[in-house]
Amino acid sequence: MAGEILVYVEQKGGAAKRASLEALTLGAKLAAARSSAAHAIVAGDSAADAAAECARYGAAKVLVLDTDPKDTHALAAAVAGVANDVALVLLAHTAKGKDLGPRIAGALNAPLASDCTAISNEGDTLVARRPVFAGKAIATVKPASGTLIASLRPNAVPAEESAADGAVENVSGAAPSTGLGAVLAEILAAADEKIALTEAAVVVSGGRGLKGPENFGMIEDLAAALGGAVGASRAVCDAGWRPHTEQVGQTGKVVSPNLYIAVAISGAIQHLAGMRTSNFIVAINSDAEAPIFKVADYGIVGDAFEIVPKLTEAVAALKAQG
Ligand SMILES: Cc1cc2nc3c(=O)[nH]c(=O)nc-3n(C[C@H](O)[C@H](O)[C@H](O)COP(=O)(O)OP(=O)(O)OC[C@H]3O[C@@H](n4cnc5c(N)ncnc54)[C@H](O)[C@@H]3O)c2cc1C
Repeated sequence: MAGEILVYVEQKGGAAKRASLEALTLGAKLAAARSSAAHAIVAGDSAADAAAECARYGAAKVLVLDTDPKDTHALAAAVAGVANDVALVLLAHTAKGKDLGPRIAGALNAPLASDCTAISNEGDTLVARRPVFAGKAIATVKPASGTLIASLRPNAVPAEESAADGAVENVSGAAPSTGLGAVLAEILAAADEKIALTEAAVVVSGGRGLKGPENFGMIEDLAAALGGAVGASRAVCDAGWRPHTEQVGQTGKVVSPNLYIAVAISGAIQHLAGMRTSNFIVAINSDAEAPIFKVADYGIVGDAFEIVPKLTEAVAALKAQG
C-alpha cells in the first residue's frame, strides 16, 4: 500500500456513517489525483455489509477487520498494522475519530492533523488545513515525510458516489487490548436525537434571547421544517433549558453544516468557535450590533418571536409547492 490512502469507515448495522463517506470521497479524489488508490477499512458486526457502500464511494479495496471497534486500542493497532507506508490515513472527526486518530498516529509514530476542513495534494505532499484559535486562523500542516494521519470535520466536503472496484479483503486484526487505556463502557445517545448535530446539513440554534425553555418549540419547528437538528448556546444549556448534547461552541460540539441559523445568540467568540466554518450562516437578532452579524452571510435584525414562525411557515409553503 506504499503511497496509497487508507480511510477508516465507521459503520452501524452495515450502514456506513455519512461523515466517513465524506472522508472516503475526499480520500478517493486525492488518490485519483496522485494516480494512486484509496482503500476503506471497516470493522465490527455487519462490517461486511458496509463494504458495498464503501465501494460505491470510491474504495479500490475494502479491508474488513475482525477487530471489535469498541476496543479502540486494538482497533488502532490493527489499522496501524495495515497502514504501513501509506501516504494518508483518513478518519472522520467524530467521537470515534478523535479517539482513534491519535492512537494510530502514536502506533505509527506519524504526525496527526485533526479536525481538518480541507486536505489537498501539493505536488507529492499532502497538505492539511485545520482551524485553530477558535477558528480565527487556519493552520497548514505538511508532513516532513512518511504517513500523515488526518481527521476530517463532518460536512467539510460532500459525500459523492464514484464507482471503484471495491474488492473485499478480510484482515485479521490485533488481539484485543490488555485492558490498558480507556474502556468503552456504554454509548449514550440522546433518545430523541433524530439527526446527529455534528453531521446535520442544517442546524438551527437558539440562544438566551429566547427567554426560556418553553420558547424552543419554534426552534424545533424551524429545524424540523428544514430537516435539520437543534443546537443551543452554552448560556442556554447552562441554564438547563436544553441538554448539553446540543451545545455548540468551544466547549460544546463543533458543527459545520451547509446552513446554520443562529436565533437570539449574541455570537460570543466561544460560540463562533463551534460554527464559523458553516457554509451559510443566518443570524436573527434584535440587536443590530450583535457580534454574530460579523460572521453571518445573511442577517435579520428583529424580534425572533415574530421572525422564526414566519420563516417556518415560508419553508412549509415552499415545500408544499414541491
Ligand atoms: C471558557 C468558556 C467556554 C465557553 N464555551 C461556550 C460554548 O461552547 N458555546 C457557547 O455558546 N458559549 C460558550 N461560552 C459562553 C459565551 O461566552 C457566551 O456567554 C454565550 O455564548 C452567550 O450565549 P447567548 O448568545 O445565548 O446569550 P447572550 O450573550 O445573552 O445573547 C443573547 C442574544 O439574544 C438577543 N436577543 C434578545 N432578545 C431577542 C429577541 N426577542 N429576538 C432576537 N434576538 C434577541 C440579544 O440581542 C443577544 O444578542 C463559553 C465561555 C467561556 C468563558
